[in-house]
This record gives sequence, C-alpha cells and structure tokens, in this order.
Amino acid sequence: MGAMNDDKNAGFGGLQIIDDGNAQAAPLAPVAPIAMEQPADATPVAAGPSGGAHAKVLIIGSGPAGLTAAIYAARADLEPLVIAGFVPGGQLMITSEVENYPGFADGIDGPALMAAMRAQAERFGARMHDFDVDSVDFSERPFKVSAGGTQYTADSVVVATGASAIWLDLENETRLRGRGVSACATCDGFFFRDKKIAVVGGGDSALEEALFLTKFASEVVLIHRRDEFRGSRIMQNRAKSHEKISIVWNTQVTDVLGEDKIEGLELTDSQTGEKRQMDIEGLFIAIGHKPNTEVFKEYLDIDDKGYLEVTEHTLSNVEGVFVAGDVHDHRYRQAVTAAGDGCRAAIDAERWLAEQEEGAESAPATTEAVSLA
Ligand code: NAP
Repeated sequence: MGAMNDDKNAGFGGLQIIDDGNAQAAPLAPVAPIAMEQPADATPVAAGPSGGAHAKVLIIGSGPAGLTAAIYAARADLEPLVIAGFVPGGQLMITSEVENYPGFADGIDGPALMAAMRAQAERFGARMHDFDVDSVDFSERPFKVSAGGTQYTADSVVVATGASAIWLDLENETRLRGRGVSACATCDGFFFRDKKIAVVGGGDSALEEALFLTKFASEVVLIHRRDEFRGSRIMQNRAKSHEKISIVWNTQVTDVLGEDKIEGLELTDSQTGEKRQMDIEGLFIAIGHKPNTEVFKEYLDIDDKGYLEVTEHTLSNVEGVFVAGDVHDHRYRQAVTAAGDGCRAAIDAERWLAEQEEGAESAPATTEAVSLA
C-alpha cells in the first residue's frame, strides 16, 4: 500500500493544493505521455519588468478550461503562457473513461484527452510551465504571478484552476491517506486487487469510482448518507445492478480504523445515530470538490459557495483578469462546459487586450488635441 499516490502537495490546474492526495494519472490506462517542459526555457517569452517571463495572456490551470483558453489565445497570436501546475491536466487526469465529451463515440481516457488538448495548444505556440502558483498580485498592471521561483508578469490573466477533492475531515482519514485511504480510484484502484473496499458519496463521482473499482476489488461497498443517489440515472442503474457493488444507505463514515493501514470503518446510521464497524481494506472518498481559489482571494470576488465570481461574461472584478471552468462554475462542472468557458475567457481576453491597445493608440492623439487647444 505504500506505493499509493499520497502526494500532499499535488496541484490541480496550476494551483498549489495543500491537502489533496489525488493527483496522479491512471497507472492502468494506456495514456499518451504529457510533455513536461520546464520553465528553464522561459526565454521564448519576452522578459517582463521584473526580469521574469512576460505574457500577453497568462493562463493559470491546465484542465479543459485552461487548455481550451490556450488553444484560442494561441490561435489569436497572443502567445499564451500556461502555468500548468506541478501535476498538470486537472481532474480529468484522474478520470478513467470520459464518455460524454463530444467527438469520442467510444469514450476516451481522461489523461489521453488532456494530452491531446495540451498537444493542440502547443501546436499553435502555447507555452506550458509545469509549476504551481505560489502567489499573485492583481493590484496593478502588469499583473504579477509567482510560480516555481519565477516571477511572471502578464497583461491579462485567465484563472482556470479548477477544483479539488473534498475529504471527510476525519483525523484518521488524514493519517491513513496513502495507506488505504484515497480520493482517486483511477490512481490507486490497482492496489486493491481482490480486496473489499468502500466508496463514500452519492454523486456521479462516487458511482463512477465504485464501478471502476469493480475491475480490481472483490467487493465494493457504496456508503451514502441519504437514501437516494444524487448522480445521473444511467450511473445509478449501472451501480445498482453491478454484482460486485452493495449499497449502504443512510450511513456516515465517522471514523477510519487501523494502525499502519486501514482495517475498517466506524459507521453511523444517519437516522438513528447507531454505530457499527465494518471490515474493509480500502476507502475511497468521492464526496465532491472545492474550487481552488486560495491564492486569489485577496483580489478576486468569491461567492458564498467559495467559487470565483464574474461581473460580465468571464470577466472577474479585476479588469483584465478572466475566469473559466470549475473554479467559477458550480452548476454544470463538466469537462465540455469547462472547455467552452475557456474558449469564452480567451475571446474576452483577446477583445479586452485589443481595446487596451486601441485606447493606448488613441490616448496620445487626445493628449495632443487637448494640448493644441
Ligand atoms: P456531487 O454531485 O456534489 O455529489 C457529492 C456527493 O457526496 C453527494 O451525494 C453528497 O451527499 C455526498 N457528500 C457530500 N459531503 C459529504 C460528507 N461530508 N459526508 C458524506 N457524504 C457527503 O459531487 P460529484 O459526484 O463529485 O459530482 C460533481 C459534478 O461532476 C456533478 O455535476 C456530476 O454530474 C459531475 N460528474 C460527472 C461525471 C460523468 O458524467 N461521468 C463523473 C463525475 C462527476 P448528498 O447527496 O446527501 O448531498
């Protein structure tokens, strides 16, 4: 179990995530490797005022939103620079099969889809720097973004940092992360061959993880706190009819048992409060995600659910900073809607930059006219 992915500092979509343990690509699916260009070659990008790299459009995040923004900005000759994250690719890197992204009649592995998007952006000249963002300064233009020891400056920014897995927040869950506790079936399912494991949650993620884990586990127990699932009907039907999946309704996991590795769970009935124990050898948490906004909160408006707000289209409350994808969208949260958002943000950034240039060109004439008057 020691080989499970337990990288606590893994970043999704270019943002440093302190407590995210689910950040590796599937070891199972045949996946095209993602090129890891490191910023030592930041030279193709013009130097900024601080001596670091400067970009007209700097995109933070490399999920579908960030990479689609990169494709559009690159094709608009804006030479975008993508701060892609120490572990690039976003949530699809931990998704086994994507069946609802248009264009793939037979489905496609999440990591393969992300590799293709990245290659497409690079083909048009987008640059990828695989670092997590440490801090930003959006108080004045050019904007400043610090990542991997490099200070970047940018005329405009697209924030597409996505969202990260939520944990149950139990002390022993944290302690046993990487020792049988995981939030990524695609990353860690491999380690649970012929074992009895549990999945917590009632949304599409939990249903998908449970179904995926049947490839390895002898038995998958799906534990949900209510008596009906939140996930889509098709996924519910698949999970309910799978011979290896059993469902425990109205139940919360209230403790994780085991010393060096997980051995069982303490379960509490949501309705009666009655407690019992269940022996299991693996636990997968699939109870949703939280948007990755930490480094932006000093500058960007955040709504009551914790997501970045927009003022008009994809524009944030800071002129020149645009937002796209799951970091803003708590309604749809799909790869295809994130990609659409990335497209919108890139077009908005392009138009905004053009307006700035037009304004700058017309400004001296106005000054001259005034001074001549
Ligand atoms: P979600 O839809 O928000 O579901 C989270 C689930 O976890 C809910 O069932 C919730 O219970 C449960 N939960 C939340 N906090 C909990 C806690 N502290 N303890 C126990 N259970 C808890 O999240 P998701 O499943 O990650 O899906 C997010 C979005 O991505 C959705 O729009 C989904 O459709 C989409 N998605 C799509 C696919 C696909 O199409 N292949 C795959 C994955 C995700 P309650 O139901 O009681 O609130």
